[in-house]
Amino acid sequence: MNDTCPTCRHYAALREQARRAGDHSKATDYEVLRRRHPAHTVRIPRQPEGRAV
Ligand SMILES: [Zn+2]
Repeated sequence: MNDTCPTCRHYAALREQARRAGDHSKATDYEVLRRRHPAHTVRIPRQPEGRAV
């Protein structure tokens, strides 16, 4: 699980929401979306070195 990715956290929240609503198929959909999130196939850029935000 990657807590640094806001999109993933968003999907995880939606998944949790669906699960609580008893909609397991939707929960699974969000889980798949989260796992497929492009940021996971490449390295999530951390704070660039020596660069001010
Ligand atoms: Zn992600």
